[in-house]
Amino acid sequence: MTIAVYPGSFDPVTNGHLDIAARASRIFDTVIMAVFDRPNKQLLFSTEERVALLRESTRHLPRVRVDTYSTLTVDYVRSVGGSVIVRGMRAVGDFEAEFQLAQINQTLAPDIDIVLFMASHRYTFFSSSTVREIASLGGDVSWLVPGPVVEALKRVYGRR
Ligand code: ADP
Repeated sequence: MTIAVYPGSFDPVTNGHLDIAARASRIFDTVIMAVFDRPNKQLLFSTEERVALLRESTRHLPRVRVDTYSTLTVDYVRSVGGSVIVRGMRAVGDFEAEFQLAQINQTLAPDIDIVLFMASHRYTFFSSSTVREIASLGGDVSWLVPGPVVEALKRVYGRR
């Protein structure tokens, strides 16, 4: 029984994140999408909103659970009996940061493996911040994010 944790800000969750979670759940018994509640960046959605959007958007993925945490990622992974950290990698631009994070986590917890999934070509070109920017300017993001996120962004930025 392998429990994998997919940690992130998910501000908001995108189809790219969901693709990684779905693919990870084909390999691991349980994938916990874990919302870090105080990332070092300015957030659009509160922790409760990010968790609620993830829950609504992952109903079709039976092996995916959603949780929140505010400790070191490796401590959280241990607290749920996990042995794997899942992350996604879009292009070379992600490599530096993900490599650094993986090295740190591996040093802190050599018993936890870090598994990086290459993003599908359909999802390599955008991030949560791209989605927020397009939505804030009134653009259509329904091809980038699940339905509940489209609605939440409309509530934030108003129907235009
Ligand atoms: P963080 O603030 O921890 O980087 P994010 O929510 O931005 O949290 O991203 C979480 C993980 O998902 C990261 O490993 C990131 O590279 C990956 N990711 C983000 N967007 C995509 C995408 N479009 N396709 C695949 N992976 C992605």
